[in-house]
Amino acid sequence: MSDIDKFSSILKQGNVSVTKPRIAIFQTLQSLTEPVKSGEIARLTPSVDRASVYRALELFATLGITNTVVRGWTPLTELSEPFRAHHHHITCVNCGKSESIEDPTLEDVLFLIAHRRGYQLKEHNAELTGLCADCQKLSQI
Ligand SMILES: [Zn+2]
Ligand SMILES: [Zn+2]
Repeated sequence: MSDIDKFSSILKQGNVSVTKPRIAIFQTLQSLTEPVKSGEIARLTPSVDRASVYRALELFATLGITNTVVRGWTPLTELSEPFRAHHHHITCVNCGKSESIEDPTLEDVLFLIAHRRGYQLKEHNAELTGLCADCQKLSQI
């Protein structure tokens, strides 16, 4: 099943119609390699008016199509697990560089922590910040 088909079936299951603007916004999300602000998604989707982009993004979040990543105080949006492998991010507090973390060790530890408390782990969020290797070098000069 293509991602567009998956996207359409999630909307249909949520009793939401598959419209051209919603597809356009989804395609913008597909083109991103980084989580971005809603305003940026609106800017990258000029065929859809801003208010509709914001409403669609709320809907996508509710339906689990997107994840919200909070960086600093800013909520950012990216596609979620049906469309992208599960991952976390680490961001440099100095230069803002960010990369994805796909690390089974992290997943195992979270699973174990929940399990020890008698929980079955469902969702989790973990955002890491630090000083990247380049910025560490600069701070030593
Ligand atoms: Zn840095
Ligand atoms: Zn995880």
